[in-house]
Amino acid sequence: AEAQLRQVQKMEAVGQLTGGIAHDFNNMLAVVVGGLDLARRRIDGPRRELLGHLSNAMDGATRAAALTRRLLSFARSEPLLPERVESANLVESMRDLLDRTLGERIRIRTNLADDAWPVFVDALQLENAILNLAVNARDAMDGKGDLTIRTANMKLAANEVGDIRAGEYLVISVSDTGCGMPKEICERAFEPFFTTKEVGKGTGLGLSQIFGFAHQSGGEVGIESELGKGTTVSIYLPRTEVEHDNVHVHPSAQMASEE
Ligand code: ADP
Repeated sequence: AEAQLRQVQKMEAVGQLTGGIAHDFNNMLAVVVGGLDLARRRIDGPRRELLGHLSNAMDGATRAAALTRRLLSFARSEPLLPERVESANLVESMRDLLDRTLGERIRIRTNLADDAWPVFVDALQLENAILNLAVNARDAMDGKGDLTIRTANMKLAANEVGDIRAGEYLVISVSDTGCGMPKEICERAFEPFFTTKEVGKGTGLGLSQIFGFAHQSGGEVGIESELGKGTTVSIYLPRTEVEHDNVHVHPSAQMASEE
C-alpha cells in the first residue's frame, strides 16, 4: 500500500511538472515567435531595432533549451540545482527580456535593496517566476501601466506570511497597476489550473508553480490585490550566508528540501 501511495504521489508530481513545463515552454515560444514576427515586419527598418528583436528571439530559445535540459535531468532523477543568487544581478539580467515582453506602454521600475541578502535557489526557476508574474501583470494592465519590481531584506516571525518559518528572508515583489482581483479570485489564484483567462490564453499554472518553487526553496509567496488598483505578488526566499556556490544552505531552506 505504501508503494502504491508513493506511485500516486509520483504521478501527481510528474503531472504537475509536465503541466508547469508546458506552460513555461509556451511562454518562451511566445517570446521567440514575437521576436521573429517583429523582425520579419521590420526587416527594412533600422538595424539596431532588428537586432533587438532577433536577440530577444534568441533569448527565448536559449531559455527554452535550458528548460528542456531541466526536464531531461528530472527524467534521470537528478535534483534541480540551487545556487547562490544575487537578486539584483538576476533582475537586471532580465531587463531587456521584460522590456520587450511587456511592450512600450508598460513602464518598468525597479527598487532593489543595495544590501539585498543572497539566496540559494534554482536561478532558472526564479527567472521563470518573475517572467510569469510580469506576464500576469501585463494581462491585468491590458498592456498599459506601471510594473514595479522590488527587493528587500525582512525578518519574519513564524506564520507572519502563510506558513513561513521564523527567520531572515529576501522578498522579491512584483506590483502592477492593473485591474486587481476580487477576494474570491485572490483566494484561489494559487490553485493549479485555476484561471479566469480565455482558453488558449491562460493555463492556471503560473502562480501554482511559483507557490511550489517558493515552498521547495524554504520560502513562501504572498499576494495582495485591490480591485481596480492593482496587485502585488511577493516571493519570500530564505537568506543564505554562503560565500561560495553549493556549500551550506540556510537551515530553513535545507529542512524544506529534505521534506
Ligand atoms: P494564468 O495566468 O494562466 O491564468 P496564474 O496561475 O498565473 O494562471 O493566475 C491565475 C489567475 O489569477 C489568473 O487567471 C487571474 O485571474 C489571476 N491573476 C494572476 N495574476 C494577476 C494580476 N497580476 N492581476 C490580476 N489578476 C491576476
